[in-house]
Amino acid sequence: SLSDRLQDTFERLRGKGRLTEADINVAMREIRMALLEADVNYRVVKEFVARCKEKCLTAEVLSSLSPAQNVVKVVLDELTVLLGSTDSRLTLAQNRTPNVIMLVGLQGSGKTTAAAKLAYLLKGQGHSPLLAACDTHRPAAADQLETLGGEIGVPVFRGDGKDAVAVASGSIKEAVDRLCDIVIVDTAGRLQIDEEMMEEAVAIKQAVRPDQILMVVDAMTGQDIVNVVTEFANRVDFDGVIMSKLDGDARGGGALSVREVTGKPIKFVSMGEKPDSLEVFHPDRMAKRILGMGDVVGIIEQAQKVANEQQVADAERMLREGFTMDDLLSQMQQIRKMGGLQKLAGMIPGMERAMAQMPQAASDEQLTRIESIIRSMTKEERARPKIINGQRRRRIATGSGRSVQEVNQLIKQWDEMNKMMGKMKGMMQPGAAGKKNR
Ligand code: GDP
Ligand code: MG
Repeated sequence: SLSDRLQDTFERLRGKGRLTEADINVAMREIRMALLEADVNYRVVKEFVARCKEKCLTAEVLSSLSPAQNVVKVVLDELTVLLGSTDSRLTLAQNRTPNVIMLVGLQGSGKTTAAAKLAYLLKGQGHSPLLAACDTHRPAAADQLETLGGEIGVPVFRGDGKDAVAVASGSIKEAVDRLCDIVIVDTAGRLQIDEEMMEEAVAIKQAVRPDQILMVVDAMTGQDIVNVVTEFANRVDFDGVIMSKLDGDARGGGALSVREVTGKPIKFVSMGEKPDSLEVFHPDRMAKRILGMGDVVGIIEQAQKVANEQQVADAERMLREGFTMDDLLSQMQQIRKMGGLQKLAGMIPGMERAMAQMPQAASDEQLTRIESIIRSMTKEERARPKIINGQRRRRIATGSGRSVQEVNQLIKQWDEMNKMMGKMKGMMQPGAAGKKNR
């Protein structure tokens, strides 16, 4: 049937549908703001947004979503892939006892807390961890670790408490003696990148040859995160990241910066001060958090509302006053922009089916022809095409330099659209069902 054919046509059209550049630009402005607010480094934002824009231009459009939601979906997918495209499990060597996990990072980032949390997690998995207190710079550091170890029933090795490298080496021997299968090495940090800190971390690394080095990064670290992780990556190198303090306000944009800049996976997120608050990293959740999901969609919808209001007003007028030749022309022009058609079509139930027949007539050449014919109509003829009789048709044909057949064809096309519009009007206004259009 005709309606099936129209449906099919529209399905095909929909499959090929693309977001318009205007849709994308509106959305991208908001995405950029959201990422910056989430403390993603501005350079990372710039590159990420550019890449997303590319993706949006070629992405399949889902008709179940608004253009804005389509853009958000593309960005969210891209963000998720970016955050989690590598394995984020903790990989340990099978043939080595003890395994060694070393934690590095700035002071206050949450290393000591994370060491205890990791120990707790591994203990729960049947391992027998030992904590090594290699932050020998601050007297309270070993005490802090010992307290935490006591809470979770995990032994803490303090050695002489002076030479960090000696404590690290000693902890391996201790682990062997105590039949511990994993040593977690807590190290000292400074408030800023510092030569001595780096040298010490490298020395500990050389002494104990860790199976895993994890960098602990405070989720609250702002733009500077890029420099911090780059320095650690270059000097000590690490296998993955523990992002701490995600239980706070931080949106966690740093995770994206870390991935973009170092390529290292986020392995865990820390959601509090308690030992059981270490969680496996979920890229999809993090992506939503970074985007501030609800917010972003809301803001974008708002931005688009302004643009859509005009189209809604047009659509309502068409239903109220009928479909004019000017409407036909403007719809044809919109079809070339595809997004315009879909936007409008999506707003009125049944409209997309009515529109589906039009793309066939919307090649540039045909559009030019139709435009020339419509321009040769009087204002009254355009508003009320029903009055265009044979005599008028001939005049319009002559005026536009087209054949009378072409004029007839256009009027027939308008007539079909107008009938369709009448049916829709009936559908949308229960009281008006069955009434003749005009
Ligand atoms: P370090 O200097 O890197 O060893 O950092 P600490 O482990 O001593 O942590 C510094 C402060 O941050 C301490 O007060 C911790 O209790 C706190 N902290 C660490 N991780 C988290 C977390 O995930 N959430 C919250 N809310 N606080 C944390
Ligand atoms: Mg510490």
